[in-house]
Amino acid sequence: MSAYQLLQLISQLLFVLVAVGVALQTIRRPLKANVDTVILFAVVALLVAIGWVHQVTGVKAGRWEGAVSSSLLMAIPYMLVRLVDDFTSPRRAIPRTAAVGLAASIVSLFVFPLPYPGILVLLLVLYFVGFTTYVAVAFTKAARVASGVTRRRMNAVAAGSLFLGAAILLAGISAATPGLAKTEGIIISLFALLSGLFFFLGFAPPVWLRRAWQEPEVRGFLARAASLPRMPDLEGIVQELERGAASSLGVAQASIGLWNAELGAIRYRSNQGSLDFGADQMLGGRAFISQQPIFSDNAERDDPEHAEAYRRAGARAILAAPITSEGNRLGVLVVYAAHAPIFADDDLALVSLLANQAAVILESRTLIDEAARVKALEETARLKDDFLSAAAHDLKTPLTTIVAQAQLLERRAKRHPMEPASLDGIESLVKESQRLKRLVLELLDVARVEQGRLVNYREPLDLVELAREVCGRHSTALHQYSLDASGRLVGNYDGTRITQLIDNLLENAAKYSPAGGLVRVRLWQDGASARLTVTDSGIGIPPDDLAHLFDRFHRGSNVDDRRFAGMGLGLFICRGIVEQHGGSIWGSSAGVGQGSTFHVVLPAMGSLSLAARPVPFGLDVEQAG
Ligand code: ADP
Repeated sequence: MSAYQLLQLISQLLFVLVAVGVALQTIRRPLKANVDTVILFAVVALLVAIGWVHQVTGVKAGRWEGAVSSSLLMAIPYMLVRLVDDFTSPRRAIPRTAAVGLAASIVSLFVFPLPYPGILVLLLVLYFVGFTTYVAVAFTKAARVASGVTRRRMNAVAAGSLFLGAAILLAGISAATPGLAKTEGIIISLFALLSGLFFFLGFAPPVWLRRAWQEPEVRGFLARAASLPRMPDLEGIVQELERGAASSLGVAQASIGLWNAELGAIRYRSNQGSLDFGADQMLGGRAFISQQPIFSDNAERDDPEHAEAYRRAGARAILAAPITSEGNRLGVLVVYAAHAPIFADDDLALVSLLANQAAVILESRTLIDEAARVKALEETARLKDDFLSAAAHDLKTPLTTIVAQAQLLERRAKRHPMEPASLDGIESLVKESQRLKRLVLELLDVARVEQGRLVNYREPLDLVELAREVCGRHSTALHQYSLDASGRLVGNYDGTRITQLIDNLLENAAKYSPAGGLVRVRLWQDGASARLTVTDSGIGIPPDDLAHLFDRFHRGSNVDDRRFAGMGLGLFICRGIVEQHGGSIWGSSAGVGQGSTFHVVLPAMGSLSLAARPVPFGLDVEQAG
């Protein structure tokens, strides 16, 4: 047997084998696409068988038998076009044109006398090559938008179609130029072999090959899975799971429905928000209720009640598997495609595997959330405790003084009704009441910081003027304040809050400095920002405390509660004021006993020299100058 004959035999055997393989598959699952594939390969197998009979018997084919064989050959492109229809969504006119072409070919094969006129042969070859090329292009296009195993299958079919077209083209050429028959015969057989091989891989890939083709996507998905539970939000996790499932199965879409016990519904994400379905609704619901994976090659037929929803989602074939962890029903994974033959029987096992993986991921996410919630509760409880003890402690001191003073005044008034009340006592009462009021206001401000509504009405204000006023008010015999600023520094500020900010920084500077210490306030413009620093020569800040100065209730480790009254809320409020103005604040210190500096940056509108005319607020600075 020559190499040429061997090649021919192998390709013929291959076609027959594939025909038997797809026939068995079709008996198991009689989908239209499977039936079409069987017919395609049966046609080829029949042609091969006819050839063998002639070889064995040595009898040459007669006129009519030749016409039948040629008609069978011409049916191949038509069958391929039908398969395009099964796997993708072609233009409707194409299958019809192919059918008309096939009918015309058959009629002419029977009508025209032998040998066929050259023009007929040319037309037949053109018909064959034209449609196989169309099939190749259609599958290549479909492959481009498909993914994973589906893309690989479609590319294989496209290649098979190209080789088949090329084989027939060559056969046509060799019929016209008989001298080259031998070499061309080998090439034609080779092309036929390759096309058979590629069709086999594309239309009826064996299980091991499908598995191998799915593996890169499945592997990629499993590799990403470990990091999924820690993604910032559940929606992101679900999206990643859907993407992973879709690419692993080589389809465009997958959807995860999560069981919502409060609603008693399965909730799916969609472009328009979320969609809720009862637990027993849709095919996904059936998988959820039965706790079994299910396959439907025609969702509209199997669940007519929701036909519209399937149509809108482009879901003709559906695979669904329950997402369940240790008996805990979390939801359902639904993978769907617009064409049934995209899926194979063994894909149910893969969907179940992916659903199990999703269950593990969703379950560990729930545990992480739960742990965070417990931690947050503990933190809140701790903060509340801190808050209550700090607030009680700080409110108690002025209250005790107030009560004692008031009782004293009362007693005196009873004993000496005619005597005027002690002015010292009243002054102390007023002072302590004001301190109490300040503390209560501070507590209220903390709530406002958290609600983000600390800063209210804003208007153009001159920071220099504001700082000068505050410094003047604070200056006492115990502490001196130097203001280092020139010109005007105008910005859009809530005057009450900015005053409160500077007040607070100056109070702290005095509180945490020895008597007689100098507090330096500096103000300047830095590009589009106003900069403010308050520097003292007091107790300083330990390096470890610098990062926490602005936390609620935080007090420095070098601060003795008995010596320095305070709740650790002032700087928290200061940060709220600055940040709600769009600025930033931080503290610095060379260390304990080395003094401290607090830095504030606020957005500014501009500056003006002191010599400039005073500007009515609300006017643009440039204009007024
Ligand atoms: P309080 O003064 O009531 O403790 P604050 O929020 O104003 O609350 O300050 C928080 C902490 O920051 C203080 O307890 C102190 O440790 C530290 N701190 C603030 N200002 C100064 C300063 N000028 N010098 C040293 N430490 C300071």
